[in-house]
Amino acid sequence: MSQSTLIVAKFGGTSVANFDAMNRSADVVLADSNVRLVVLSASAGITNLLVSLAEGQQPEQRAAMLDEIRHIQYAIIDRLQHGDIIREEIDRMLDNVAMLSEGAALATSTALTDELVSHGELMSTLLFVEVLRERHVASEWFDVRKVIRTNDRFGRAEPDMAALTSLVDQQLKPRLRDALVITQGFIGSESKGRTTTLGRGGSDYSAALLGEALQAQRIDIWTDVPGIYTTDPRVVPSAKRIDEITFEEAAEMATFGAKVLHPATLLPAVRSDIPVFVGSSKDPAAGGTIVCNQSENPPLFRALALRRKQTLLTLHSLNMLHARGFLVEVFTILARHDISVDLITTSEVSIALTLDTTGSTSTGGSLLTQALLTELSSLCRVEVEENLALVAIIGNKLSQACGVGKEVFGVLEPFNLRLICYGASSYNLCFLVPGGDAEQVVRTLHQNLFE
Ligand code: ADP
Ligand code: ASP
Ligand code: MG
Repeated sequence: MSQSTLIVAKFGGTSVANFDAMNRSADVVLADSNVRLVVLSASAGITNLLVSLAEGQQPEQRAAMLDEIRHIQYAIIDRLQHGDIIREEIDRMLDNVAMLSEGAALATSTALTDELVSHGELMSTLLFVEVLRERHVASEWFDVRKVIRTNDRFGRAEPDMAALTSLVDQQLKPRLRDALVITQGFIGSESKGRTTTLGRGGSDYSAALLGEALQAQRIDIWTDVPGIYTTDPRVVPSAKRIDEITFEEAAEMATFGAKVLHPATLLPAVRSDIPVFVGSSKDPAAGGTIVCNQSENPPLFRALALRRKQTLLTLHSLNMLHARGFLVEVFTILARHDISVDLITTSEVSIALTLDTTGSTSTGGSLLTQALLTELSSLCRVEVEENLALVAIIGNKLSQACGVGKEVFGVLEPFNLRLICYGASSYNLCFLVPGGDAEQVVRTLHQNLFE
């Protein structure tokens, strides 16, 4: 398939938070006639409320949350010239949310959660189409569940690329010729037609998957920051924008917690070599970051990322001494519980590891279950420490350079580093620190490495 001129543009929660934000996002869409497909998140705050409802709430709490959702969406409808038609449709969605929330209060399930949570994106896209219609733009609402086919791992479903590509060809491509198509991020459907979600923040991933299936020229991720920065500008206000960054570097950043891109976003982009642009829908003139195949003179230190709420598991067993096969046993248990290990260090009689929370479930449920701990405890003594943070330094050829250790750890003397991983990847060096120290560690490192 040859590359087209088509651009897929994705707008995150803050970019569709209210009527004004939706109009600014519409301006961005209309500024480039190559943008044919628009992928939207739910209006800011809605997904969190829906997740809470899906956890099961008492009637009073439930009513309050439903009111809050209604308030956010009605505030948009009230600004439309002819809001009545769309109000009926949104009301139907809200009735559905109320009914499903009542069900969740009786018994929660991951399938029910995904069905419930999907209403955020269904509503924001309906409202955005109406905003465009009032601006006399020919646009069409498209239910993305017709094409994003996934497995049935609710909460963190994985796409079936072959099915997705052929469904996009049949169902989506023909529509792109006649109108601007507005569709949902984050959601999909499994083979029985039940709604699934791709994990929190998954709309970026949806845009990339659709971009790949359409062989787009570019995937634009419009958010609330004008690009990818040397670290989260909320943590370090003096962080600098990176104008151009490679897929590998950006993927490392996303994996290690830079929320600006969902960790899986770059997989489709890399596979099909489609550049990804990141910019701010509030300030499109500020430009942004382009993520592509190559960047000129990639620096030794590129960025810092921070991942909170990390759990450290330390497994001790004297049986490990001069033994064979102990690691296999541990990893077999973890695999059986569907857990992938993130970082790992070992000594003669102990293993320290963290769990990979990449693409965590939509509800953010803990990966560490009692069943897993019981099984591990039959093998060794298990120590669990919560509330740690993972700090990652992203760079290039880090494991080949000299003096990296001194430059990084020299300034971190006042802090207790719990686990250090360095050498396996030439793109990163990372370590765990107590959660409460994390931001100070990032600020100290940023000042030393980037300012
Ligand atoms: P959206 O709702 O548009 O998907 P997100 O909140 O998921 O937006 O992502 C944008 C946020 O990512 C920013 O507000 C910023 O605080 C955070 N962020 C974390 N790391 C970085 C980074 N390195 N560069 C830019 N933003 C970052
Ligand atoms: N609305 C979903 C979330 O809040 C997906 C997204 O915004 O990317 O996680
Ligand atoms: Mg996001």
